Amino acid sequence: MAKHYDFLVIGGGSGGIAAAKRAAGYGARAAVIEAGRIGGTCVNRGCVPKKVMWNASTLAELLHDAPDYGFDVKVAGFDWSTIKQSRDAYIEHLNAIYHRGLDTASVEEIAGVGVFRDPHTIAVNGSALSADHILIATGSAADIPDVPGAELGITSDDFFELEHHPRCVMVVGAGYIAVELAGLLNGLGSEVSMLLRKEIFLRRFEAMLRETLMEEMQNAGVSIMPCIHLQQLSRAADGTIQLSTASGETYSGFDTLIWAIGRSPNTRNLGLEHTGVATAQGGQIVVDEYQNANVAGIYALGDVTGKWMLTPVAIAAGRKLADRLFGSQPDARLEYENIPTVIFSHPPIGTVGMTEDEAHELYGHSEVKVYQSRFTNMYHAVTRRKAPTVMKLVTVGAREKVVGCHIIGAQADEMIQGFAVAVKMGATKKDFDRTVAIHPTSAEELVLMR
Ligand SMILES: Cc1cc2nc3c(=O)[nH]c(=O)nc-3n(C[C@H](O)[C@H](O)[C@H](O)COP(=O)(O)OP(=O)(O)OC[C@H]3O[C@@H](n4cnc5c(N)ncnc54)[C@H](O)[C@@H]3O)c2cc1C
Repeated sequence: MAKHYDFLVIGGGSGGIAAAKRAAGYGARAAVIEAGRIGGTCVNRGCVPKKVMWNASTLAELLHDAPDYGFDVKVAGFDWSTIKQSRDAYIEHLNAIYHRGLDTASVEEIAGVGVFRDPHTIAVNGSALSADHILIATGSAADIPDVPGAELGITSDDFFELEHHPRCVMVVGAGYIAVELAGLLNGLGSEVSMLLRKEIFLRRFEAMLRETLMEEMQNAGVSIMPCIHLQQLSRAADGTIQLSTASGETYSGFDTLIWAIGRSPNTRNLGLEHTGVATAQGGQIVVDEYQNANVAGIYALGDVTGKWMLTPVAIAAGRKLADRLFGSQPDARLEYENIPTVIFSHPPIGTVGMTEDEAHELYGHSEVKVYQSRFTNMYHAVTRRKAPTVMKLVTVGAREKVVGCHIIGAQADEMIQGFAVAVKMGATKKDFDRTVAIHPTSAEELVLMR
């Protein structure tokens, strides 16, 4: 006889844990099945270790600027293993907090790989578990291209395992993970190149953001190689990684090559064929706006659905699902509009809502009015290193409703959350204008734009 639950979750990452804990809070008998380390991608090999490294690289910038503020600072070096050890220790500490959190919430934790036997039964470690409701929250994994020698490259997962500071790195990819890894490595003193298949990176982001960032990364020393079709990797005579392109060029000298070309959903070995659950062409689980799969009693959220692959999105969707299934809130669902996001680049990006191009397409040119400001943060008044801040508000209609807010510059990562509240509430340009500025800050520019 299969052990029975109200709610079984496959995947103990951001979304799965949030959903199970919320469900248990309503009295549901809930369990989470996790094949790896508790906490999933974000905690173990995503947001958290990435942010620690971004902090390290931001510190390198500050140390570089310190003499301009009068400090007699001599930086004798940077020890990769120190930050690696403290980062790993911090993650272990978080893992322990997650284990305790599940225990306190009365969510059963099951270590193992969950595989569907039928739409209501999961096999794990040779036992069968059944449930009225099953959530698939198995996340995604980094893609590796099908080119000869691909195994010479590493993924972002492997990046966080590196014991030594990579000296000469090629990052292949054009998404936010590629941009972040390239930026932080460059800040920490590696020689960094980025290879793009097209002309630009961050294609789905506001053009002003990516153009400013591309210029800044190049100014900071990142070599960006656009429009290159990589054909194969091999070892050069000196042992470094060599890249050959479709147009016959070769580039070598890299001790590390990072594949950051995208992520695919973890649905391949899940036994979905025993359920009838529909997947999209890329393997993502197809869900409706309530996270329902096409089979009654099966749900999916987070990266495995391929939609807004961000931790807070998976968490929020998980909590809403539990509210709906166990908390007597039949209409609970996550609104996927106006989700703010940050790119931890150098300088960082904070963005919410529509790009200018999207607004033009949706509302027509005559309805869209854009406000933009470019300036140098006062921090740089006395530094030789200068980095711009650029802000854009996209407004529509006679009331000038703000439908997009885009910032690149120091502290954009911390600025955007508050402005996202305003955008979500439907603030107009007039609402921004009648808010008194905070001086002297960068953020004040957003309420002072003409
Ligand atoms: C380098 C990097 C940086 C990132 N930075 C950010 C950031 O700054 N901000 C942000 O919001 N997001 C960031 N993300 C994205 C974020 O990590 C994901 O969107 C988030 O973790 C998705 O949560 P999830 O619950 O869908 O999946 P995950 O957190 O990936 O959890 C899925 C879990 O399911 C487990 N699993 C899979 N199959 C099975 C199975 N058959 N049985 C049992 N367990 C299984 C996996 O082991 C995993 O632990 C980053 C991602 C990466 C890779």
